[in-house]
Amino acid sequence: MDSIAHQVCLSADCRATYAADEVQFKCTRCGSLLDVAYDWNRAAVPNDLKFFESRWSTVGRQGQGRLDFSGVWRFRELLPFAEPTEMVTIGEGRTILQQADLLGRELGIKPGHFFLQYEGLNPSGSFKDNGMAAAFTMARRLAYKQVACASTGNTSASMALYASAGSTPDHPVQAIVFVGSGKIAFGKLSQALDYGARTLQIDGDFDDCMKRVQEASAKLNLYLMNSMNPYRLEGQKTIMYRVLEGLDWEVPDWIIVPGGNLGNSSAFGKAWLELKELGLVPRVPRLAIINAAGANTLHTLFNDRGLRWNDGRIDQSLVDDHFHSMDATGYKAKTVASAIEISRPVNLPKALRALAVTDGVVREVDDDTILDHKALIGRYGFGCEPASAASVAGLRLLLEEQVIDKDQRVVCILTGHELKDPDATVRYHVGDEQSSHPQARPHANAPIKVADDLDAICKALSTFE
Ligand SMILES: *Cc1c(COP(=O)(O)O)cnc(C)c1O
Ligand SMILES: [Zn+2]
Repeated sequence: MDSIAHQVCLSADCRATYAADEVQFKCTRCGSLLDVAYDWNRAAVPNDLKFFESRWSTVGRQGQGRLDFSGVWRFRELLPFAEPTEMVTIGEGRTILQQADLLGRELGIKPGHFFLQYEGLNPSGSFKDNGMAAAFTMARRLAYKQVACASTGNTSASMALYASAGSTPDHPVQAIVFVGSGKIAFGKLSQALDYGARTLQIDGDFDDCMKRVQEASAKLNLYLMNSMNPYRLEGQKTIMYRVLEGLDWEVPDWIIVPGGNLGNSSAFGKAWLELKELGLVPRVPRLAIINAAGANTLHTLFNDRGLRWNDGRIDQSLVDDHFHSMDATGYKAKTVASAIEISRPVNLPKALRALAVTDGVVREVDDDTILDHKALIGRYGFGCEPASAASVAGLRLLLEEQVIDKDQRVVCILTGHELKDPDATVRYHVGDEQSSHPQARPHANAPIKVADDLDAICKALSTFE
């Protein structure tokens, strides 16, 4: 196919281009990340986002109607790298933007101004399915038989699901996942095992796995499905399209997202950049990326060292110095929010671009604050896993700092489902002896122990208001 899409080096000093189907995840000339770029003049881009509303009535129709079920592919004109017949879908992105006034009130935001985008409602229970639908489509198009990723859990769950549900008799695909030892939440590990992924538990952490999976993929010709695969980010752009859809195509003031490997932040930045360039939105929202304090590389580099996108000329020496000092001190990321327990985010440069495009900010929140906000989210909504709650914890901080105003429209992305990590939830509510502040869990809702006796049960219930 004479493709509308190609790949281009992110570095402003290089800008080498590659065909859309070329498989390498770093520029062979300078080592930077690659971006998917489009010749928009040749693409069938609608001139108004309202065009996509027509897809609500064509769901399930013969032909391309199967794609209109998908929250990724119903926006296919905005990620035109594959033919419709090639697009793989298992029902990803059928998620909702929920107005959350009760939680908003708790935070001091005006009614009607606070929204939660529930990406935990994806088929594998996290936003990763948005990106995986796109990257798996590319894996099939390139006729790979094996796909691989390093994972703190959700990437492997998602990839394993696509490899199982997206395999066909004439094109079976095997999933190979690299996970660290002892770190992975059971909800996530159980999915990879159940969907039949060949699972390697490496004696190391996520950052070690990330390094090894790149080496192994190059050596064994596996298709790498981590978010340094630029097609992952194409799929994840659609989270922003659905937020817009949920707001009747009005641009919110703020998008808040937890930052781990920074794929999501990067995808969001690219989505807004393109929408603006295409004239499909009048302005872009500001982006807030929230690190866990125990995995705060972006926060340190952006806020303490002043690292910036700088029009594609990033000061790499600031990054190298920081990574060297992490090595010298034996620093390892450590947080209860395991999905963002990452110290060397591979998409760092793209996240810096996202921050530049959106006039964004970066903050860090500690584990106790994350868990308190996770409990609040659960109390007033669908719940989420710990990493996701960093977004709302970050919002609280930004409201306190008056960076965000209480009458602005704010969207927090809830990245993963509550049942991914029930251990963390139960530990919070019931308490555990290892906790540093066993008393300080203001939203704990512990079960009450009661005898098997009606009077005792009535007495216990009478203590509730
Ligand atoms: C992967 C993941 C993140 C981090 O997203 P990045 O794109 O790696 O920054 C956050 N929350 C959950 C639940 C995740 O699965
Ligand atoms: Zn380059």
